[in-house]
Amino acid sequence: TPRPLIAGNWKMNGLSVALDEARAVAAALEAKPPAARVAIFPPATLLHRLSQAVEGAHLLTGGQDCHGKSSGAHTGDVSAEMVADAGGSLVICGHSERRTDHGETSAQVAGKAEAAAAAGLEPIVCVGETLETREAGQAVSFVVSQVRDSLPTSLAGKAFSVAYEPLWAIGTGRTASVDNIVEMHAAIRAELVSRFCEQGRTVLILYGGSVKPENAREILAAPEVGGALVGGASLKAKDFLAIIQAL
Ligand code: 13P
Repeated sequence: TPRPLIAGNWKMNGLSVALDEARAVAAALEAKPPAARVAIFPPATLLHRLSQAVEGAHLLTGGQDCHGKSSGAHTGDVSAEMVADAGGSLVICGHSERRTDHGETSAQVAGKAEAAAAAGLEPIVCVGETLETREAGQAVSFVVSQVRDSLPTSLAGKAFSVAYEPLWAIGTGRTASVDNIVEMHAAIRAELVSRFCEQGRTVLILYGGSVKPENAREILAAPEVGGALVGGASLKAKDFLAIIQAL
């Protein structure tokens, strides 16, 4: 089984000064190597500098999104090759904020994940239901179909992970209950195994949504939780390190 992954998604936060937080994380991990792989996903403008700043440290970097094509007339977009060229080794695909703000469909997300893997990046493919869907009793079926439609078959044999982030838990301070998480991760695992056979048994399934130092231990200890995708609490080295050390 692969090592767990703790991923810090800075979203559209952090100017140059935020690199100091990442340097502090790198320094702490140097002193005490983590049980998990750790990665930070800064805004695109900081990826190259962050990658250089933490080169050789126990800290990976990645992009928050990539385009499905490797180059071309796509103003404002960043290709997977560009993320790799800037020093990233992973990329988040289909975060709910991309799906909501930019209308990304699962088919497009699958194209991004395919482009990512082709560029040698490890995609983290995000899924998650709205509160409305959960209250209608459709959460599991909705998320399982998102998993099915957002993972291209070409990921077979490639490194990738899935992140379950219920939309109602993102940035709200409201975490999914461990029961919710266990149920959903089991359903995602079943879909991964049916789709990718043996490989599907070891693909990491991360949880995201208001993960904090106070709840990280309980969440990370739950069955089929292979790590966390952390938003707000990844912006401060102290909080992010506490989550990493909760493993
Ligand atoms: P928060 O940890 O701020 O809730 O964000 C979760 C998330 O969306 C990470 O990708």
